[in-house]
Amino acid sequence: MKTAFSQIPSVDRLLISPHFEALSRESSRERVASTLRAVLAELRCKLEKDEKINLSGEHVADLVALKIAEEDAPSLKRVINATGTVIHTNLGRSVLPEEAVEAVVAAARYPLSLEYDLAKGKRGDRDSHLEGLICRLTGAEAATVVNNNAAAVLLTLNSLARRKEVLVSRGELVEIGGSFRIPEIISASGCKMHELGTTNRTRIDDYKDVLSAKTGAILKVHTSNYRVVGFTEETGLAALAKLVKDKNIPVIEDLGSGALADLSSFGLTREPLVEESLRKGVDIVTFSGDKLLGGPQAGIIAGRKDLIKRIKKNQLKRALRVDKLTIAALAALLKLYLNRDTFCEKIPTLRFLARPLVELEALAKLAAEGLEDYFGGDATVDVEAGSSQIGSGALPGEEIPSKLIVIRHKSLTPSRLAASFRKASPPIIGRVKENSFILDVRCVERAKDLLPRKKLKT
Ligand SMILES: *Cc1c(COP(=O)(O)O)cnc(C)c1O
Repeated sequence: MKTAFSQIPSVDRLLISPHFEALSRESSRERVASTLRAVLAELRCKLEKDEKINLSGEHVADLVALKIAEEDAPSLKRVINATGTVIHTNLGRSVLPEEAVEAVVAAARYPLSLEYDLAKGKRGDRDSHLEGLICRLTGAEAATVVNNNAAAVLLTLNSLARRKEVLVSRGELVEIGGSFRIPEIISASGCKMHELGTTNRTRIDDYKDVLSAKTGAILKVHTSNYRVVGFTEETGLAALAKLVKDKNIPVIEDLGSGALADLSSFGLTREPLVEESLRKGVDIVTFSGDKLLGGPQAGIIAGRKDLIKRIKKNQLKRALRVDKLTIAALAALLKLYLNRDTFCEKIPTLRFLARPLVELEALAKLAAEGLEDYFGGDATVDVEAGSSQIGSGALPGEEIPSKLIVIRHKSLTPSRLAASFRKASPPIIGRVKENSFILDVRCVERAKDLLPRKKLKT
């Protein structure tokens, strides 16, 4: 053992060898040395386990180069979304429209008038870049923006109903992806939850019966990722607004996705519009920036001016506020909505959702032909009818007809095949269903995006 260890060359000796001279020209000498130490430690471990190791200078230098390259590679990698879920939380939800991307780049690169009033030469307000646009698109009196919709709900409740009761229907105690649950968010915001009604039916009288001096707010939650069907009754927004009129109890609605435009003209079921909620008398609505809106991660709070003022004054606002990159992206996105003829084409999330079946079919056929060649008889590749999902809890239960590429490999199981597509560059993410591996083309821009450039590693 001792002699085996003594074969390991010293760091100093290796560093002056020609292979390492070359490495040190690309990375700093210090970094090469520390990486080399780590590599030698790994080799020593292998020796201890009696594994065969190669100690040639060239091989060790290769290991060091590989480790440095791995460290330098980004961990956030671009991927091809062939899952069929348009707003895929694990894949970063909405991709930004080109206009928003350009705005982000410019905001990142140069100093900017983030909180600076250029006309007066004085301190300005970061919300000023967004508030007017949000009000114009929703009919709200005032608005503000925070990190995400979870933060929007938290901040709104904390600002308007702290230490008081928040009334919420038992049919609306939503959980979104485990980390956002209405009961928990209410308690985290310093309020007390008062649940009422039943899972399937909540009437106006249920609210009326529990209204008291302790009531701080009524919270309505859009049950965005499930639907209660059958014998159901939900109390309408207008009735709730009427109930608390002149009582100084705000009605707050967490819309989740919250659309700014009617999507039914694209063949999708209508998601509630922010504007409608406000028109029906809701005092404050909150919704996400990166779901159906199609922009950056953000939480938008819109509604009554006096309430928004209290929300903006809350110390927590500072902790939850958005940065300049988000403001740049969101402002550029919202401006696209001002042009009613073109926004759907320009906002990728909406464009993907509205993509015509014929376009999907042509794309799927082209990609399937390429994949068939690629597998050269080792797999069958078919184009079949199937369905995509919107994702992120928007329009639950709604499936949109799509075209799927269905791959059945002769020797690889579907999950092995899925794993090997994930090793492509860029990784291609599909889904496994029974005996096949499926690529949904809805969010794929070009057929060639689905063809791995190199032979797949299995
Ligand atoms: C998605 C969603 C949230 C959380 O929004 P984030 O922007 O992910 O923080 C909260 N409430 C509802 C109803 C939602 O659909």
